[in-house]
Amino acid sequence: MGEARKRGCMIRQFELVEKIKSYDPNANEEALNKAYVFAMKAHGSQVRASGDPYFSHPLEVAGILTDYKLDTATIITALLHDTVEDTNASLEDIKKLFGEETTRLVDGVTKLTRLELQSDHAKQAENFRKLLLAMSEDIRVLLVKLADRLHNMRTLHHINDKAKRHSIALETMDIYAPLAERIGMQEMKSELEDLAFSQLNAEARESILARLGFLREMGGSLVARIIAELQQTFENAGIKAEIIGREKTPYSIWRKMQHKEVGFEQLSDIMAFRVIVSSVEDCYHALGVVHSAYPVVPDRFKDYISTPKPNGYRSLHTGVFGPERQRIEIQIRTREMHEVAEIGVAAHWQYKQGYGQREGRQYRWLRELLEILEHASGPEEFLEHTKLEMFHDQVFCFTPKGEIINLPNGATPVDFAYAVHSEVGDKCVGAKINGRMMPLRTNLENGDQVEILTSKAQTPSPTWDRFVVTGKARARIRKYVRTKEREQYLELGKSILARAFKEEEYEYTEKSLKSVLKVFNVDSVDDLCANVGAGIQTGREVLEAVFPGIKKKKKGAAQKIISLAGVRSKKDKGKPSENAIPIKGLIPGMAVHYAGCCHPLPGDRIVGIVSTGKGVTIHTIDCAILEQYAEVPERWLDVSWEVGAELPEFHVARVHLTVLNEPGSLGSLSMIIAKNEGNISNLKITHRSLDFFDLLIDIEVRDVRHLTDIITALRAAPVINLVERAKG
Ligand code: MN
Repeated sequence: MGEARKRGCMIRQFELVEKIKSYDPNANEEALNKAYVFAMKAHGSQVRASGDPYFSHPLEVAGILTDYKLDTATIITALLHDTVEDTNASLEDIKKLFGEETTRLVDGVTKLTRLELQSDHAKQAENFRKLLLAMSEDIRVLLVKLADRLHNMRTLHHINDKAKRHSIALETMDIYAPLAERIGMQEMKSELEDLAFSQLNAEARESILARLGFLREMGGSLVARIIAELQQTFENAGIKAEIIGREKTPYSIWRKMQHKEVGFEQLSDIMAFRVIVSSVEDCYHALGVVHSAYPVVPDRFKDYISTPKPNGYRSLHTGVFGPERQRIEIQIRTREMHEVAEIGVAAHWQYKQGYGQREGRQYRWLRELLEILEHASGPEEFLEHTKLEMFHDQVFCFTPKGEIINLPNGATPVDFAYAVHSEVGDKCVGAKINGRMMPLRTNLENGDQVEILTSKAQTPSPTWDRFVVTGKARARIRKYVRTKEREQYLELGKSILARAFKEEEYEYTEKSLKSVLKVFNVDSVDDLCANVGAGIQTGREVLEAVFPGIKKKKKGAAQKIISLAGVRSKKDKGKPSENAIPIKGLIPGMAVHYAGCCHPLPGDRIVGIVSTGKGVTIHTIDCAILEQYAEVPERWLDVSWEVGAELPEFHVARVHLTVLNEPGSLGSLSMIIAKNEGNISNLKITHRSLDFFDLLIDIEVRDVRHLTDIITALRAAPVINLVERAKG
């Protein structure tokens, strides 16, 4: 095939069109000519490493695909395949001139080309092959890409840089040849392999070629005599058969030698004989004839007709000591099986176009494969090897170094980070996807390059658990949260117990707690403390268990706070009692929660309410909600800020405003907040009349003083009628 082109003559416009019309009389000649001219103009004076005009390359790629009798859209795509990446032409131009289908195909090929340029894939060949398959939503995209690679391999020797030649050849061997094989394109696969082999191991190839030449000379007309004798054998049995003697490629011989499968001693070691018959029945009949005429080589028989290879290959294989006592390999197949074996999936397009259809059942296998390709069904294992869509439940993303990370669909940068390394996951604070900062909950897509930003101060966040999809990320986050939660409960519990003991002027020791472990049905002092922190037991209960005599002797500290809350005097509000438990160091959302009703801020006088099993909720001491807890003093806890480094930098404050209903009033109020370094995190209009709005705004502030500054600034604005902190 394509002998003239292999010798380097550039195929001409009319030749290309003639060739297509020879197998597809209805081909769109006008579109083909338009694509030819468009690509030629777009590439202009660009040249290849060979010195040829660049345009010769897309033209050759198109030529390769005409050998597979592909449809007009595929041939046009081949002509245009490098225009978007390498010239000024845009996808919009192509859409205007050639329509949706071609544009989609060209876009697909361009995406594959960009992926190819992204990194060194040879190390992760299997993943990269899957990525290419996943991204080739239309099989024709992959066919163009393979033809592109084949032409680049045919012209590889023009590239001067040896290292570059080597890496292209390696990639071809590891990725493109197996891809061609997977979709059944045996011929393409063999040529790709052999071209790569001549680059990667030229000496081995030379010596194999020399040996082949020698054997051919020694053997003389041996091959012809074998074919003639086989022909006679079949004729005697009444089978019409065509016999083809085919020399194996140097690469396939070399690989067999490596696996020590053949000794490479005689000519028949490197010849395979193909017997083409007219029906499946004849295949088995021919097999029987061969097996009764010649001694069988053990373990060589394979029936790929009743059990086709995953890529759809069907044939009977056997080995015999045949004519002239030569050990030979024989493959028996029908014409249809033969075509499918040579060009695989490409035959589908011939079938679909109708121009390859000589008999009704001819492409039945392809029709079946296609149905499986298009509608998910059938045994898992078969799909595993044939169905392109099988990778649609996965996404493949790149690290900045070009390593491929394989994730389930719906995965986020947090999943990615954990897949790279547990430590990276734990410390991740942000992600750049394709160079842009994106939220950690973003769904990743095929081919995304993901850079994870980390901070030593970061720890896994309980909120991640809501959007991660990988088991590894989820397990790690949950484990961290559980461990941390217990630590937090433990720390809080110890503080509560120490205060409870101190109030009654007892010394708090771990030893004193050991005596009451059984009372509370726990195994260790730590378990008891953690239970107190979680609000399962109160400090007072533990104290009363340790010292049964002190029951209700004194008014508890909680009662003092309750009365304090009742007084609500400005003077007292600023001063936490000396016994207050500092909440410094406790992580919000675990043992400590900030109440959504009053939004306490550092600087506010605060009080804690213990909720059983959930730790402590912090309210401002004047929060209206607290009245609900007046009857349960044992749940009150005297707490204080003590702002430390581990408190979040920002706290959410809630403000109620009444604003004039006029253009720009919302704008000026957000300007005032921004100027005062506040960040609006939520805004809700609660009431709207002709002249006024009522609004609730959540503002992130540092502390009470910061909020007071903002409120003061808002009060000064003419459009704002009323501003107050919203509580309860
Ligand atoms: Mn190209």
